Amino acid sequence: MENEYFNFIPYGKQFIDENDKKAVLDVLESDFLTTGPKVQEFEEALAEKLGFKYVVAVCNGTAALHLASRVLLNVGDRVVTTPNSFLSTSNSVLYVGAKPVFVDIEENGLINLDLAEEELKKNKKIKAVYLVTFSGLPFDDEKLKYLKEKYGVKILLDNAHYFGKDSGICDITTYSFHPVKHITTFEGGAVATNDKKTYQKLLRLRNHGMVKDNSMYPWEYKMVDLGYNYRLSDVACALGLSQLEKIDMFLEKRRQIAKYYHDNLPEKIKPLYPYNKKSSYHLFVVRYPFKSFDEKAEFFIKMRQKGIGLQYHYIPINRQPYYVKKGYFKKFPEMERYYKEAFSLPIYYSLKKKEQDYVIKSLEELL
Ligand SMILES: *Cc1c(COP(=O)(O)O)cnc(C)c1O
Repeated sequence: MENEYFNFIPYGKQFIDENDKKAVLDVLESDFLTTGPKVQEFEEALAEKLGFKYVVAVCNGTAALHLASRVLLNVGDRVVTTPNSFLSTSNSVLYVGAKPVFVDIEENGLINLDLAEEELKKNKKIKAVYLVTFSGLPFDDEKLKYLKEKYGVKILLDNAHYFGKDSGICDITTYSFHPVKHITTFEGGAVATNDKKTYQKLLRLRNHGMVKDNSMYPWEYKMVDLGYNYRLSDVACALGLSQLEKIDMFLEKRRQIAKYYHDNLPEKIKPLYPYNKKSSYHLFVVRYPFKSFDEKAEFFIKMRQKGIGLQYHYIPINRQPYYVKKGYFKKFPEMERYYKEAFSLPIYYSLKKKEQDYVIKSLEELL
C-alpha cells in the first residue's frame, strides 16, 4: 500500500466511545437483554429528537421498510420510487406483493418529483410514493404536500441517510442504524409516524402480530395479524441512546467535512450539489466526467492502492439481475449519467483533517 501514513480510509464508519461501551456493558449486567426498558427509552428519545409522536425501534432499516409497506400497501398496488437507493426501498414494495414504478432522478441525486407526478397522473393504481433523502438532502416540503393533497397518495420517506427534525408531512418515515449511518445500534432501524393507528399496527407487526390479552387466562396471548420478529434488543437500544447523545456533534462534523471538500476540491471534481447546511451529509458525492466505466474502475483501484476506499451509491436498482428478470429494466438518462460520473468520498466523524487533505491530494494526482 502506498499510503504509509494513515490507516485505511473508508467512505464511512462508526464512532464508538467509552460511554457507548459502558452503556452496552451495563445492559449486559442487567436483567433484560432484549425487550427491557432501554427499548422504550430509545424510542422516546428518537421521537423527541426527530419530532415524531411515535417511534418503533426494529432490528434493521430493511425491516422498518417492510413494516411500513405492510401498513401502507395492498397486493397489486403500485409505488413510485427512485432507482438511486439501496435495494431495500423497492424490495419492501415487492415483499408485500405490490410493484415499484421507477422514475429518473434529478442532478442532485434525488428522485425527480415532476416525473413522479406524471406517473401519478397516468396510473390510478399508484397508492404511494417512496422517497429517499439521498445523501442526506431533504425534500421541498411544499412539493410533497402538494403531491399528497392533489393525488391522495401516501408518502413514505426512507431517511436512512437523513437525521433531523421532521416536517410531519410524510405518513411513515424509516431509519437505519447500520454502522455507516448517522448513529449505530449495530444492526438496527426505526419506523416513525404521527398516526396512532399506524403506530399500533407497527407495534403488533414487530412482534408476531401478537396482542396481550390475558382477560381469560393468565398465560394467554393472541395473534391477530401475520407479524414478524423484528424487535431490537435492549443492548442495541442502550448503544443507540448513548450514540444519540453525540448526534449534534456527529452532524456538525459531517457538515464541516462537506464544507472543506467544497472549498478545497480541484475544479474538475464537482460536488453533487452546492454546499447545503440542511443536508445531513450521510454521503459526500462528487462527479467527474469519466469516459467509461473501465476508466472509473481503474481510478477506484488506484485510490484503493493509496489506502482510500471510495464507494459508489447506487447501482440503479432496476438494473439488478432480479429486477431485470421481472421486467423493470429501463435506462433513465440522468441516472445513467450519474452512474458513470458519481462516486462517494470519505465522510465520517473521526476523519481527520490531514486524512481529508490526503484524499484531496490523491484525487488531484489521479484525475
Ligand atoms: C442502509 C439503507 C437501508 C437499509 O438499512 P439496513 O439497516 O441496512 O437494513 C435502506 N435504505 C437506504 C437508503 C439505506 O441507505
